[in-house]
Amino acid sequence: MKAVVIGAGIAGIAVAIRLKTRGYEVDVFEKNPYPGGKLSEIRAEGFRFDAGPSLFTLPGLVDELFMLAGKKPQDYFSYALLPVITKYFYPDGSQITAWSDPEDFAHELALKTGEDKQRVLQWLKKSERLYRITHHVFLERSLHRLSTYMRADTALSALQLHRLDAFRTMAKANNSQFRDPRVVQLFNRYATYNGSDPWQAPATLNIIPHLEHNMGAFFPEGGMYAITTALYQLAVELGVRFHFQTSVDKILVHQNKAKGIMAGGGEIIADLVISNADIVPTYRYLLPDIPPPEKILNQQRSSSALIFYWGMGKTFPALDLHNIFFSGNYEEEFRKIWAEKTIGDDPTVYVYISSKLNPQDAPGGCENWFVMINVPPDTGQDWDRLISLARQNILLKLETMTGESLTPHIRVERILEPRTIESLTSSFQGALYGNSSNNKFAAFLRHANFHPKIKGLYFCGGSVHPGGGIPLCLLSAKIVDGLIKDK
Ligand code: FAD
Repeated sequence: MKAVVIGAGIAGIAVAIRLKTRGYEVDVFEKNPYPGGKLSEIRAEGFRFDAGPSLFTLPGLVDELFMLAGKKPQDYFSYALLPVITKYFYPDGSQITAWSDPEDFAHELALKTGEDKQRVLQWLKKSERLYRITHHVFLERSLHRLSTYMRADTALSALQLHRLDAFRTMAKANNSQFRDPRVVQLFNRYATYNGSDPWQAPATLNIIPHLEHNMGAFFPEGGMYAITTALYQLAVELGVRFHFQTSVDKILVHQNKAKGIMAGGGEIIADLVISNADIVPTYRYLLPDIPPPEKILNQQRSSSALIFYWGMGKTFPALDLHNIFFSGNYEEEFRKIWAEKTIGDDPTVYVYISSKLNPQDAPGGCENWFVMINVPPDTGQDWDRLISLARQNILLKLETMTGESLTPHIRVERILEPRTIESLTSSFQGALYGNSSNNKFAAFLRHANFHPKIKGLYFCGGSVHPGGGIPLCLLSAKIVDGLIKDK
């Protein structure tokens, strides 16, 4: 049996590994000259930058792929738990260290803000409960197959769905739990982990702190791109064939059955076709004769990002691996993004410096800064003007909040923004995570991992169920594999 995978994003590589270990002949077609899609890297003048994801949770989902193939994960890939997840800097000059250990984290919040330690611990417990209720139903199985709802563990979860806190927003829930606005702001930020707005997204998203604070945030040896290189190496060793710089032009369908693809000017016939490309271009360009599910494709997209990769000719001991410089008016920042579809003057700035843990990512005495703000998806804004303004505002903000002069130390600069995210990864409107979750029904409005009418056609990756981010993309590959097994 032969399977073709369209796209070598993290979910595409994962599904290729899974199918190969079950005896399929697997070919992956990728338009770029490298694997990884958004999970890639940039090298410039002695600096190395992780281009996309920087925060790694649920590493067991990566390990599982090596174990499936009968290999020891640590022969390919290792990672360490971060003792400090993030350093938060507030405009009033206060700083909070988000320790990985829940007790230490709660103690820090109590010490720095006067927030009640028990309320913080209680909130992290609630986050864990939300995870326990939801993960079987929403993350690990197809929401679109009756069989999912017939299982005992799913039925048990389904009985508790009223406890999902879906009928108030995340901001409202955090506001009712905490007294100190800095603590509320810190917990509201988790909505951005899937490109959403805490003032619109349901409080169900308060599941996310559980992943970081109870299950742990990790850093792969060699940086985030090591996830891609390790899985790519495994896939190649297993015999998956990768065809780089080969764009897929069409999915071939005959009598409601996927027959293969058109790529590189020829037809490639296969029993299964799995698209890891964004679901919007998959329908619009690769399936031009198939009626698209307009309601799903027209959902609001998640936010995008503007990232400056700065090679800094200096080190900054006050900063850690992950640093957040908060906006003075968080609600206004999101209003600008979602209501005005623009960038405000005082965005929250995220600075990720992988050379803190992986010194070879920057020349001696230097650091590799990944400086990111959340921005709206691309709907035709004047990005050149917005980027130039944002650059000035970011520099001014970081210089004020760190008390350091930065501009003279920027030796190298590269930029990624919504238009280039779309051109490099085909992600519609440059969205980072497919659809936004600014809607309590968002989980049900993601495309299923299979086509309801075309046999042998499957979908994986951040734009389909269960959603964006590395862990969910890996789970989408697992769900596809399960669906193929059960068919
Ligand atoms: P993608 O990475 O979207 O790749 C799809 C691949 O398909 C691409 O390589 C593309 O070239 C290829 N392709 C598309 N169409 C075709 C075609 N017609 N023919 C051939 N090839 C095609 N996630 C986290 O977990 N933690 C984070 O900290 C985090 N931060 C992020 C920061 C940024 C700046 C970005 C961009 C993303 C971030 N994410 C993060 C999200 C995460 O990167 C994505 O959810 C995930 O990598 C998407 O993987 P995917 O499998 O959907 O494929």
